Amino acid sequence: MRYKVALLPGDGIGPEVTDAAVAIMEYLAEASQVTLEITSHPVGGSSIDAYGKPLTDETLQACYDAQAVLLGAIGGPKWEGLPHDQKPERALLGLREALGLYTNLRPAKVYPAMVAASTLKPECVSGTDLMVVRELTGGIYFGDPRGYDEERGWNTLVYTRPEVERIARAAFEQALKRRRHVTSVDKANVLESSQFWRDVVHEVHRDYPQVTLEDMYVDNAAMQLIRQPTRFDVILTQNMFGDILSDAASMVTGSLGMLPSASLGDQYALYEPVHGSAPDIAGQNVANPLAMMASVGMMFSTTFQLPEAERTLTEAIDATLAAGHRTADIAAPGTTPISTTEMRDRIMETLQEIMERQRTSAPIA
Ligand code: NAD
Repeated sequence: MRYKVALLPGDGIGPEVTDAAVAIMEYLAEASQVTLEITSHPVGGSSIDAYGKPLTDETLQACYDAQAVLLGAIGGPKWEGLPHDQKPERALLGLREALGLYTNLRPAKVYPAMVAASTLKPECVSGTDLMVVRELTGGIYFGDPRGYDEERGWNTLVYTRPEVERIARAAFEQALKRRRHVTSVDKANVLESSQFWRDVVHEVHRDYPQVTLEDMYVDNAAMQLIRQPTRFDVILTQNMFGDILSDAASMVTGSLGMLPSASLGDQYALYEPVHGSAPDIAGQNVANPLAMMASVGMMFSTTFQLPEAERTLTEAIDATLAAGHRTADIAAPGTTPISTTEMRDRIMETLQEIMERQRTSAPIA
């Protein structure tokens, strides 16, 4: 198979983690007999510096032409003073809207080697493996009217039937590939829009009798995530609740530097780490590239339909961590951290070893 990938390294540590992840992506592609046509384009602050705006028509066109977009991170102090609609982060909203990326998948899985790194007790986080399915292009972040004056500030929370139906379907489809349980998170005891959300989710559920569905109020969900994260499989929720809950879920796993995400629409797909451009450590070759690499893993299983490649990469990441190789953000006290490029090399070596073992132990056809 042949695929086009648009690379948007962006700002801060974006280019560093992108370089490391691309090496892994090329290796995995070759091993899976996939041909990749990779092109790189400016986005965010680096695009403002070069072309005066965060998202150019050329970059957007390259994303339309590709089967997958891989984005590093956007933003930094250099561009903070710009007006809201000219900031680097506008590029993210622009891409989500233009590419119709209404499904945001944020898996939160604890690598066994990282159980002790969580701020929660090991026995509480061990075995956590959940997927937040967040609606990404609707809800209160997009509703009109909105505004503020001297006396009032206001936003509007609206969901339409097609918007809820398609995100509910995405969640049930995810559940079919996992442990077949969906928790739909809302605030139906207070918000009419949430009662509507709940009704539509239950209607869509009729098409998925193999999946169990439970409803949970968002305040209870926040509490349950910290109390017993292992009780969740798929969490389905609206834009703002998903924003908040997925950050909480990410800390259950120990580090922001390790979490990938996929944003999907009917035609396009964008993969990116959950973290930002980390200006405090940019340019020092110390950033953790594992979130970006895991995002590449999601690209293989989702866009290229090669889940085995993602499984092998996950195994390589866990084995590398278990061998004690850690970047500064996850290094145990008293140990010497490795650099971004060293982490890339350790992952590559482990990946090669695993693939070699798979080749030699594969039954001869
Ligand atoms: P951040 O995620 O960039 O950094 C938060 C902290 O985590 C920092 O101390 C940073 O050093 C650390 N960190 C993050 N990723 C790391 C990695 N891979 N390895 C090691 N340490 C890592 O969040 P922030 O500081 O709030 O935001 C910085 C800039 O990033 C802002 O301009 C913000 O708007 C932008 N941002 C962009 C995105 C995106 O591109 N999707 C997401 C969030 C924030």
